Amino acid sequence: MFENKDTSRTSISTLGEFGLIDHLTKHFKIAQKSTVVGIGDDAAILDFNTKKQVVVTTDLLVEGVHFDLSYMPLKHLGYKAVMVNLSDVYAMNAEATQITVSIAVSNRFPVEALEELYAGIQAAAVTYKVDVVGGDTTSSTSGLVISITALGQVAAEKATRRDTANEGDLLVVSGDLGAAYLGLQVLEREKQVFRVNPNSQPDLEKYTYLVERQLKPEARKDITALLAELEVLPTSMIDVSDGLSSEVIHICKKSNVGCNLYEDKLPLDPQVINTCEEFNLDSTTIALSGGEDYELLFTIKQDDFLKVKANPHLSVIGHITKESEGTHLITRANTKIPLIARGWNAMEEKE
Ligand SMILES: [Mg+2]
Repeated sequence: MFENKDTSRTSISTLGEFGLIDHLTKHFKIAQKSTVVGIGDDAAILDFNTKKQVVVTTDLLVEGVHFDLSYMPLKHLGYKAVMVNLSDVYAMNAEATQITVSIAVSNRFPVEALEELYAGIQAAAVTYKVDVVGGDTTSSTSGLVISITALGQVAAEKATRRDTANEGDLLVVSGDLGAAYLGLQVLEREKQVFRVNPNSQPDLEKYTYLVERQLKPEARKDITALLAELEVLPTSMIDVSDGLSSEVIHICKKSNVGCNLYEDKLPLDPQVINTCEEFNLDSTTIALSGGEDYELLFTIKQDDFLKVKANPHLSVIGHITKESEGTHLITRANTKIPLIARGWNAMEEKE
């Protein structure tokens, strides 16, 4: 986790718009050969000069909709905003190379707060070797808005789309599921406790993994590298941002296939299991619908099974069927339940 800085306040107006962006980005360094001109001109100049294809993705994060600054430190927010975008680049099996960052901010934020935000952005850029090559800052009358665009490159034959899964393929997910959502529930609960008793000290010891997954997610660049090392080229891939079941449905719909997903194969961290018990939540529902996991979900040919089988970072969670068979969860009790974008039908009955 990042440590907090002290909070002296300098008004944004003392720097002006151009001074502000210069001030916030002056320490940023260029790491990619493809960046010819970064920040500081009317536009960045990029020269990919390869036979690879370029991928582009963009995301918009709005205060009060996508994040809550009462428990999201600005440095973490900057880091996470970059991760959300890089995760989409890695889901295409591409190498992320550049990002642009634009923010709209109200004058309730002092320069020091924006420095924290940009420190998180810089930390992400350095760790993932992407160049920040542009962006804009403007004023907002209400909350903070962050828009990031990420670019990357991939050899045409290695790009992993959503619409290319085939019947008989195995469904694989990296890491584990549901922790980020539970981290949010823990933080929400602490916020309520703090409201009632502002002197209370949050006790997050038991939930460190969950809170870290919520506040400081990592895009799975390591998984695309691992797959290359294992010589496994997924037949389709997507990142898990909205929850596993909705991502599985995206792949199935786009590829015109169905699937069977197995409840007993869903990868869960022990903290997820324990906290679900404590909060009286169903861990399967959380794994399927929690969201913000930023893991990679992909399909592989059956021939590649042995290459991924015993890998601790990868779980085979199901297989692809004919479209006419639909998309289902096979429960531990061996019942077949239709998957819905937000969990599975049994969840609606429970609510
Ligand atoms: Mg995505």
